[in-house]
Amino acid sequence: MSKVYFMNDRSTSIQTSLVAKMLTLFDAAGFGDLIKPGEVTAIKLHMGEFNNTAYLRPVYVSALVEKIKSLGGNPMVVDTTTLPYWPFTSRSTALDYLNTVARNGFTQSALGCPIIIADGYIGTDDVRIDLPEGFILKEQYIGTGIALADSMIALTHFKGHPMGTFGGALKNIGVGCASKRGKFNLHMGGHPRYGLNKRHWMPERCMKQDCPQYEMCVHLCPAGAIEHTEQTVLFHRDKCLGCLACVGVVTMCGVAFLTDDFFYATAAAITDSALAAVKAVGKGKVGFLNMALDISPWCDCVNFSDRPIVPNLGLFASWDPVAIDSACLQKAKESAGMPDSIAMAKGVMDPGMPKFTACGSFLGVSEEIQPNVGQKIGLGERAFELVEVEPAADPAPFLCTTVPAGAKLGYVFSKKGDVFPPGGFKREEEVDLEDMRQS
Ligand code: SF4
Ligand code: SF4
Repeated sequence: MSKVYFMNDRSTSIQTSLVAKMLTLFDAAGFGDLIKPGEVTAIKLHMGEFNNTAYLRPVYVSALVEKIKSLGGNPMVVDTTTLPYWPFTSRSTALDYLNTVARNGFTQSALGCPIIIADGYIGTDDVRIDLPEGFILKEQYIGTGIALADSMIALTHFKGHPMGTFGGALKNIGVGCASKRGKFNLHMGGHPRYGLNKRHWMPERCMKQDCPQYEMCVHLCPAGAIEHTEQTVLFHRDKCLGCLACVGVVTMCGVAFLTDDFFYATAAAITDSALAAVKAVGKGKVGFLNMALDISPWCDCVNFSDRPIVPNLGLFASWDPVAIDSACLQKAKESAGMPDSIAMAKGVMDPGMPKFTACGSFLGVSEEIQPNVGQKIGLGERAFELVEVEPAADPAPFLCTTVPAGAKLGYVFSKKGDVFPPGGFKREEEVDLEDMRQS
């Protein structure tokens, strides 16, 4: 049974700061063993889509970078280019990606180490991984910059995900370590049964020039698979790459119809791809930290962040990506739903109800698929032992400085001399505060 180290998200002191808890879990899980002097450790991170607001704050990453450096390691923060997913791309090339995440606060100067877009400028710089044990994928393509790392810490924001139903450690490395070529693969691009190329197409529903999205729709497909003629809208199935740029458009207008098979197959493929990422870096060379905070129903890869569906669940660490995601899912299931969130609209407020099946997926696709596939292909175990970790006794490792305030400021205050204005501040001697207490 795999161990999952856990701390809750309550915080009342320096040692219980969530940054301190993340570092305490790093030590409890023994992730220091991954860091070797001079070796390269990748920190796999989702840095958030344009105008998403639920992604992990950069401070967690900076603290992890400092930790790895303190152990002699050579850290780099890694992610990969995305498929379009939407009509307007903002992380689909390395250039777009770096511009978007700089706006989100992720820069080399903020994090303390370089950010590497591991699959190159448009996502074709990758390493092929053979997957004979895969459930649906028999090969996968992992970004070169990740595959060549000596070790990896997957720092994951645990939340919902519209394709995987939930986005945890498996999704962070399964989708996030795959090159763009690998993302076409795991999103079933061109698949003879489950691909978007196989969806139902009902051109008679197209409103043509009367559609408010017509101009955009004409220029939507990067592969030329959607063609608007005078009379109709054609779908050239053989050209469809499965890039998902059109999915929210032609599905919403009713011209295309997705089956739930697409989502089930993609969720399973995410886990196959996670196995490929682990094989690429090396078995026993990847540690997993899940931050179950700000648990929005959809991923950080959408351009918005809805109200969380459950309260913060806590912080988790494990060597097993299947066990750590299973532990997070269980905590979410045990939790009450968040008032006035989509959990209320979907009727899953009670403890014991699976939250992500109802709130993360378009079609109620089971949240159990990813971990079940993970166990089947030998990536990890669903059964876990939850090990509650106590906060560190000593606050010193989490202090910005150990120089006391008097020692630091006494000299500069006395040198400057006028930290209070001459004669003191202008203020009333006494005011009626009682009046201000009334509601
Ligand atoms: S969005 Fe739908 S209705 Fe509008 S032009 Fe495209 S296919 Fe036609
Ligand atoms: S038709 Fe296929 S390739 Fe074209 S935008 Fe849609 S998913 Fe992408």
